[in-house]
Amino acid sequence: MQFQSLNIIEPILKSLKEEGYTTPTPIQAQAIPIVLQGTDLLGCAQTGTGKTAAFAIPILQLLSANKVYHRRKKIRSLIVTPTRELAIQIGESFTAYGRHTGLTNTVIFGGVGQNPQVNTLKNGVDILIATPGRLLDLMNQGHLSLKDVEIFVLDEADRMLDMGFIHDVKKLLLALPKKRQSLFFSATMPPEIVKLASTILINPSKVSVTPVSSTVDIIKQYVYFVDKGNKNLLLLEILKDKNIKTALVFSRTKHGADKVVKFLLNHNIKAEAIHGNKAQNARQRALTNFKAQTTRILVATDIAARGIDVDDLEYVINYEMSNIPETYVHRIGRTGRAGAKGTAISFCDAEEKEYLRDVEKLISKKLEVIDNHPFPLIDHNPVKAPKHQQGRRNTGHARPKPNGNTGQKKWFDKPRTSR
Ligand code: AMP
Repeated sequence: MQFQSLNIIEPILKSLKEEGYTTPTPIQAQAIPIVLQGTDLLGCAQTGTGKTAAFAIPILQLLSANKVYHRRKKIRSLIVTPTRELAIQIGESFTAYGRHTGLTNTVIFGGVGQNPQVNTLKNGVDILIATPGRLLDLMNQGHLSLKDVEIFVLDEADRMLDMGFIHDVKKLLLALPKKRQSLFFSATMPPEIVKLASTILINPSKVSVTPVSSTVDIIKQYVYFVDKGNKNLLLLEILKDKNIKTALVFSRTKHGADKVVKFLLNHNIKAEAIHGNKAQNARQRALTNFKAQTTRILVATDIAARGIDVDDLEYVINYEMSNIPETYVHRIGRTGRAGAKGTAISFCDAEEKEYLRDVEKLISKKLEVIDNHPFPLIDHNPVKAPKHQQGRRNTGHARPKPNGNTGQKKWFDKPRTSR
């Protein structure tokens, strides 16, 4: 199927061609006709499936078809999304797909001064992309009104709930016109989400693509068992592979992310961190450098990485396993996007083995074990410490034990599935 067969108007087809899109992804093929009909939509899809275009394309088309002339543009579509990075990326998508439509968009989010955002809003805009807190804040200050919104999108609703934005979302709903079209997207549909959706949508059509476990099927996934204290050295070893042009490395904590960056910089590997303690412009700069491949390694925490969308990102490295198995899926979903190649590498120390088990249960598959590496896990079955010493962890200074394979073979040669 081609985009032409979805009855998309010429100015949008033109920009899709410029973006290099030819075939709609499954969520786009399903959602675009529904949204164009003016029907509410409940979409179960995660980032990486092309869901942004699934709502941005028909919104641009509907707003173009039904041009409204005001002396000053009014907000006719509102997209609410949980993180600044996602908001920026959605804004970039609207700009790209809508560049021949004459429709304008702007993005607002917290953590930066509000004045530039207020000034842009003063000039008027057709499409507003926002995170909930800043949106409510500017609305309460009287800088924007939602009374002309025709199409409302709630993006990543499950994340919104996880991040504690549910009350903000409920407040926002009160400011929206009753007569509107609403689109609701969530990667998962737990009962609270279904309940929230029912308060927003009227007779929605439902579309669902790639349940969590099937998106991960296209991504090659490896696990290295390694002592906590050797993870830095293992990372360095893996990065000797020059085929790894860039990699997104996940760390559980902000402090941990900074430490990994420092270590890599000390070993002449260009790395930057992206996490909540960094100012918004520093995060944006790091992301831009990473996209331009002037920074080879971006080390991110989970919240900061939400929505990072880097075309052709091939490698994701889980420096630490997350204790939440769904997080693994979100992390590795940064790679292998829209059918591209993807490789996910996880470092698992003795204490993280139970997290690995949870991940494998969730995705119903075993990660391939790479054990021909120079830093094998020594602490396989940690002996229980006497009571008075319990609570102390592996000091993490186990010395690397080269196993004779160093540098001879590629890191992914001869994987074994035993553990
Ligand atoms: P999303 O799920 O919206 O974050 O999109 C994931 C990635 O897929 C983004 O990098 C998009 O630019 C890309 N993408 C979306 N739709 C298509 C398409 N039809 N053809 C090729 N790439 C696409």
